[in-house]
Amino acid sequence: MNKSSPAKILIVDDTAANIALLTEMLENKGYQISAAGDGEKAIKIAQHITPDLILLDIMMPGMDGFETCRHLKKQETTKGIPVIFISAKTEVDDLVTGFSVGGVDYINKPFHEDEVNARITNQLQIQQLNQQLATSELHMRQLLINYQYQSERLQQIVDHVVDGIIEITTLGNIQFANPAVEKLFGYTTKELENINFSELLAEPFASLYGKFFETSLLEGEQGYFSGNKIFEITAKRKNGSEFPIDFSFMKISVGKEMYLAVIHDITTHKDKEEKFRSLSNIDPLTNLANRRYFEEVFAKEWLSSRRNNKPIAFIMIDIDCFKQFNDTYGHQAGDDCLTQVSAALKNNIKRPSDIVARIGGEEFAILLPDTSEEGVFKIAEQLRTDIQALQIPHSGSEHQVVTISLGIAITKVGEQYSSSDMLYQMADEALYEAKHSGRNCYTIAADTTNSNPQSEK
Ligand SMILES: [Mg+2]
Repeated sequence: MNKSSPAKILIVDDTAANIALLTEMLENKGYQISAAGDGEKAIKIAQHITPDLILLDIMMPGMDGFETCRHLKKQETTKGIPVIFISAKTEVDDLVTGFSVGGVDYINKPFHEDEVNARITNQLQIQQLNQQLATSELHMRQLLINYQYQSERLQQIVDHVVDGIIEITTLGNIQFANPAVEKLFGYTTKELENINFSELLAEPFASLYGKFFETSLLEGEQGYFSGNKIFEITAKRKNGSEFPIDFSFMKISVGKEMYLAVIHDITTHKDKEEKFRSLSNIDPLTNLANRRYFEEVFAKEWLSSRRNNKPIAFIMIDIDCFKQFNDTYGHQAGDDCLTQVSAALKNNIKRPSDIVARIGGEEFAILLPDTSEEGVFKIAEQLRTDIQALQIPHSGSEHQVVTISLGIAITKVGEQYSSSDMLYQMADEALYEAKHSGRNCYTIAADTTNSNPQSEK
């Protein structure tokens, strides 16, 4: 039954006059009427049309009303249809039997139109409410199933996601942590329960977190804990070791207010970044520092040497007649030569503060902070002899082997050089001089020492 179509009523009575009377009464009210003269027919029709209500005479030849009702209540298609008995006399026995076989009400003969209408309307309303109830119950069940599914799905995500998800009370204590948190921090779930979240943060973030909870009620937002942003901060494991994380922290309200922290371990990312950084600092052929990195270090060492009033030595190195070498032996041999020379240079540069770099094709630079003049000359001479000792054949060279020339510039304590560029330029000029002095030698820039060009042939 629904609102768009009239309710269907099946009248069952062995007296045609009763059917006629009831039909007239009910059709006037807009109901759709069917009729049956005995119980068997009534059952068939009911199964066929599934009426919204059945008016059933008790006293009928053959199958009486009670028996008919029992049959209707056994059938799946008809058992839900309300049955109102039609009775000539309402005796207690009849009432009891009628209700016991599944009837819902009685209408007495002779019929009073108002009573008939009232009882029918009443039952149809109850029927309609029952149907609505059944529908909403079904709806509720579907909602519940849906909710359970969603809940399980979310649980699965929270359990398997690699990011740490932490629920925090308004007092700053951990209320829930997903399994990823155990893995990331080395605490068990039980240990995590009710410890303060600051335990998972390294300084200064742990202190800032504490401050946030002291002041949040008054000041609201504070830096890292302001929500909706991702910050790169440092976390702390149970064993005290620290690691970098992407961190976001937000206030949420699920029934009650709480905070949610999401933690993404970026150790791998940071390692890659570091590796990339170091790769971008290295000359791929020789594995020495490249020019970019050398200049970065040079600038830093220059400032530091001035600030601390310490000398700084700069040696510029060039492989002698390298163009001819390449022309004679080819570029592969040229690369091999560069690699061997680089290794020999590096072999003599031992202190962490010293740096050797390839700054051009066959050009190298060495920085020796805070080294005595004698020390610098000793290193320069060692480099020169070491390269010659490699005995790399070079038919275009006077020495028949690969050699290098070196130009040295040293800042002196107390002397103020205007810029690092000046030191660079002086080393370059000294190198030029070494080339003109016959190569395979080192020369010291005139401004920086009194020494004369050095060579050993
Ligand atoms: Mg009868």
